[in-house]
Amino acid sequence: MELDSLYQEVILEHYKKPSHKGLTPNPTAQVHHVNPSCGDEVTLNIFLDGENVRDINWEGVGCSISQASTSIMTELMIGKNVTDAFAVVENFTGLMQSKGTQSGDEEILEDAVAFAGVSKFPARIKCALLGWMAFKDAAAQGLTVNTMSGGEK
Ligand code: ZN
Repeated sequence: MELDSLYQEVILEHYKKPSHKGLTPNPTAQVHHVNPSCGDEVTLNIFLDGENVRDINWEGVGCSISQASTSIMTELMIGKNVTDAFAVVENFTGLMQSKGTQSGDEEILEDAVAFAGVSKFPARIKCALLGWMAFKDAAAQGLTVNTMSGGEK
């Protein structure tokens, strides 16, 4: 697999020093997602204030792409409202499905554009998307929890 060397560095940096790694208690929702084809796993906590993503933290094992992508995703999502966060997930998913034809919108995806080259490698796309799908699942569950508890804002 050949990726741009600057991008490799971004990925390696996040793999070695992941952001927001380490679970804390009492999340709004917690999910566990696995990518059996590679052996990647992520457990992700989301903390919502109403529809705002107050915090995310996670634990995971697996390849550098899955772990670095989850780390970068947390930095992007914390502080966003869920609607905006889902739009970013959509954008990243589109990039991953681009088969190497897109370089990614840095305004929206920031460091996550480092994974653009991964879209040329079908076997690795699930690695890159693992944390993002976990986030989407956790946020959806978190919103349901909030609604059931009276939709506190
Ligand atoms: Zn992987």
